[in-house]
Amino acid sequence: TLGIDWTTDWIRRSAAVVSEHRGELITLDREIGDGDHGENLDRGFTAVLAKLDDLPADASPGDALKLVATTLISTVGGASGPLLGTAYLKAAGAVGQEKELDGAALVALLTAARDGVVLRGKAEPGDKTMIDAWTPAVDAAAAAVADGKDEVAVLEAAAAAAEQGAEATEPLVARKGRASYLGDRAIGHRDPGAQSSSLLLRAAADAAA
Ligand code: ADP
Ligand code: MG
Ligand code: MG
Repeated sequence: TLGIDWTTDWIRRSAAVVSEHRGELITLDREIGDGDHGENLDRGFTAVLAKLDDLPADASPGDALKLVATTLISTVGGASGPLLGTAYLKAAGAVGQEKELDGAALVALLTAARDGVVLRGKAEPGDKTMIDAWTPAVDAAAAAVADGKDEVAVLEAAAAAAEQGAEATEPLVARKGRASYLGDRAIGHRDPGAQSSSLLLRAAADAAA
């Protein structure tokens, strides 16, 4: 099972990967949005890192996820702040005060995160949004648990599916967010939010490996 050490490692790796890919996310968002996605997320996760050391020693994974949620909501301008903030808030709610997360709990966490984004943004699969990374990740994680895989394999399956899902946004026309104003001109460009969500899910798998 995975506990608070995995959760905080996931968060630290998320901040690192967002910072490392800041320029790439800005470039993607410049192509079909307003060019601030890398900056938005980097600002948010930098603020999260600054608060992480204040977590009490007996904090649960849910407490850490809630810290991410409130910090992203208050520091990230743009669509992605409230969307990802809601994802982490619902993920925190799904795991409650459990100290150790098994595969089923990880699926509950990922499902709640995805559902939070949908609740907030009303996007459907294929709308060329971050949902197109989260939904295949949730499905792959659930399938891995059904196959009796351990937590590491569940998160690896989720990360791989999210990466494929992000890539699969390239031929799509956007139906939500700024990219939806572009019509056919969004075709051929990867959705920045789907790309960043795949990075966050890869960080989750790396923290477990
Ligand atoms: P903004 O568009 O306000 O500048 P960001 O650039 O930070 O915000 O985030 C853009 C990303 O947000 C998009 O690439 C897309 O993945 C995601 N997004 C936008 N609207 C929605 C929505 N309604 N549902 C899900 N994701 C969305
Ligand atoms: Mg933007
Ligand atoms: Mg913006």
